Amino acid sequence: MKDKFLQIAIKAIPEKGLERSLDLGPEWFSRWRGEDPGLEFSTARIKGTLRLEKHGRDILVRGTLTGQLQLSCSRCLENYEAPVAGDFDLLLAPAPGRVSGEAEELSAADLDVDYYSGDVLDLEPIIREQIILLMPLKPLCTEECQGICPRCGAVLNLEACTCK
Ligand SMILES: [Zn+2]
Ligand SMILES: [Zn+2]
Repeated sequence: MKDKFLQIAIKAIPEKGLERSLDLGPEWFSRWRGEDPGLEFSTARIKGTLRLEKHGRDILVRGTLTGQLQLSCSRCLENYEAPVAGDFDLLLAPAPGRVSGEAEELSAADLDVDYYSGDVLDLEPIIREQIILLMPLKPLCTEECQGICPRCGAVLNLEACTCK
């Protein structure tokens, strides 16, 4: 089931732009996990704001996201809560093929460009992608995490082992 909140009719975006605040809690994330079991975090809470502006046929989406993701440490494999924050600017252009060769009205040089089709914007995949981009490449519960002993499997943050 689609989240109506993130489906925005293009007609409904006024000239002065449209602002939405986001508060994505466990329900939203568990639905996502249901559709994408490979998701690399468990519970999460993300808040943020979105602003949509029309520029001719293009739509500029600016967002800020902050919150926590529960990640698994890449060294010791324990779960931990990671604070995350970021913002993004994304230009949505009409999908190629539907446009009659009109020039884009914003210079897309330094913006990420994505495409939309139809009369309703589905922001859900955009938000999901932006949340994935907030994840650290190599999650660590602490910089000093000692990881797991490759011989005996002891979690070295919690216990010393007698290997070596
Ligand atoms: Zn760790
Ligand atoms: Zn050991």
